[in-house]
Amino acid sequence: MSSDTTELVAQCLCKTHTFKSSVPSSSLPLSATCCHCDSCRHVTGAMFLVDVEWPNQDEDLSALHAYDFSPNLREFSCQSCGTRLFCKGSKPGSTLGVITGTLQNEVNLVRYDKHIYVGDTRDGGASMFMRKSHPDATPSKRFVEGSNSKELPADWPSNFDLPDPEAQVTPEFTPLYCHCRGVNLLLKNATDLKDRAPDKLPFYHPGTTAETFEHLPASTFDLKAAVASENKDPRLGTLEFYQSSPDVERYFCSKCAAVVFFAVHDRPNMVDVAPGLLDHPSGARAEGLLHWNFGTMGRLEDVEGGWREKLGKGVREEAEQWRIERGYPKTAGRVRREAGNTKMQL
Ligand SMILES: [Zn+2]
Ligand SMILES: [Zn+2]
Ligand SMILES: [Zn+2]
Repeated sequence: MSSDTTELVAQCLCKTHTFKSSVPSSSLPLSATCCHCDSCRHVTGAMFLVDVEWPNQDEDLSALHAYDFSPNLREFSCQSCGTRLFCKGSKPGSTLGVITGTLQNEVNLVRYDKHIYVGDTRDGGASMFMRKSHPDATPSKRFVEGSNSKELPADWPSNFDLPDPEAQVTPEFTPLYCHCRGVNLLLKNATDLKDRAPDKLPFYHPGTTAETFEHLPASTFDLKAAVASENKDPRLGTLEFYQSSPDVERYFCSKCAAVVFFAVHDRPNMVDVAPGLLDHPSGARAEGLLHWNFGTMGRLEDVEGGWREKLGKGVREEAEQWRIERGYPKTAGRVRREAGNTKMQL
């Protein structure tokens, strides 16, 4: 390969599937579009879906699991680990896109510069923290709907009635479901946790402990056994897991490939919930339910030296500014960490 082309490598987590295709190096960074619509949140479990055009538009995807996201869009994922790799439109002129999370972390490879369907989020969602991520500091463009719709000003939502973090959490149950509804659960709120001392709260988002679920097994070991069982409880629906390391299970929907839970064995009474699956009246960030750790970001050291480093640091910086502007306190865990006590209390 000559130096004036760059090879893109897309790979799933379990490495069963690897795809390669080349672009002219002069076309870098590739312009990525982030879709914040309700459907993309529920199909990914993330705050948005982001893809870039794949150079080989005739790529053979027959080895992947296909899911019809809509009459006009088909998505492709790995059946073993649940990684979503591609999405393909069927309308004339629509293109094959690769999900950026599957691409290598080469410097200057991808730039997130357009955000569509931000109107769906009601609270701005994760777009609030990517308004300045363009390398030359030009704010990213944010649109109410598609990229031909009304562009949102940088200060939107300026007058949004953001939930008071000290207010009672409502409603009592928040729907938590994937796009195909094969995983369809209710998350109980955390009002019962609010009377506990802040330093005794779980160190992530209060309200995401396994014990707050109705019907779900109370420990991650029991959950794993229930999902793997030949006589699987029908209420677990299309929930499946991939064992990504001996002590980690990553739960996803076997039909639409939404990420659902992350479970690690040294926290047997807690799962991490994919926030994109929540359907809360306060908006995409579900701030009436979740307490976000704005201004910190885990595992940034894993992406040093590549395109994700700049993105991650930019998001961390903007989220910290947002936290200060809104007057949100630092989380108890962050206060402890910054004081030099890294011991987590559960
Ligand atoms: Zn895989
Ligand atoms: Zn979308
Ligand atoms: Zn699903």
